[in-house]
Amino acid sequence: MVQKGSDLHNFALERLKERGVSLEEIAELVFDLQKPYLSEITMDLCLENVKAVLRKREVQNTILTGVELDVLCEKGLLSSPLQEIIKEDEGLYGIDEILALSIVNVYGSIGFTNYGYLDKTKPKVIARLDDHKNTQETHTFLDDIVGAIAAAAASRLAHDNPEISDVMK
Ligand code: MG
Repeated sequence: MVQKGSDLHNFALERLKERGVSLEEIAELVFDLQKPYLSEITMDLCLENVKAVLRKREVQNTILTGVELDVLCEKGLLSSPLQEIIKEDEGLYGIDEILALSIVNVYGSIGFTNYGYLDKTKPKVIARLDDHKNTQETHTFLDDIVGAIAAAAASRLAHDNPEISDVMK
């Protein structure tokens, strides 16, 4: 049976939690991204925007899909060669980034800049997730998803504060 919207929302939040990612950590990325543009920014404001992003069905669908692939890979349940490609987080695969873009897409062009920046610099929680290559864990999809949620939340915040949107264009 197809899940109701509220169920999907709860599943997505539960998935993030199970995989060891807190909303506060994502909010921290948003804070760091927007601090230079908005002096009165607070962690609460960032958290509020992360939560708003997570209420979008497109975002929930992406979380469920990406995390499922990470988990199946962790259990060795994917077929070869996809199993090895995702396990090794092969640089040329690229579908993890493409999937995460479906989150960034929801909030327009400012999100793309932030997403690219986070993907390149890999701060904080993203570094931790990206550092899975020599462990049993697989976060090939989740690191990009977390970056995309932060980028989307930052761009949502910028849209609410036009003075930020102007400098970031
Ligand atoms: Mg990745």
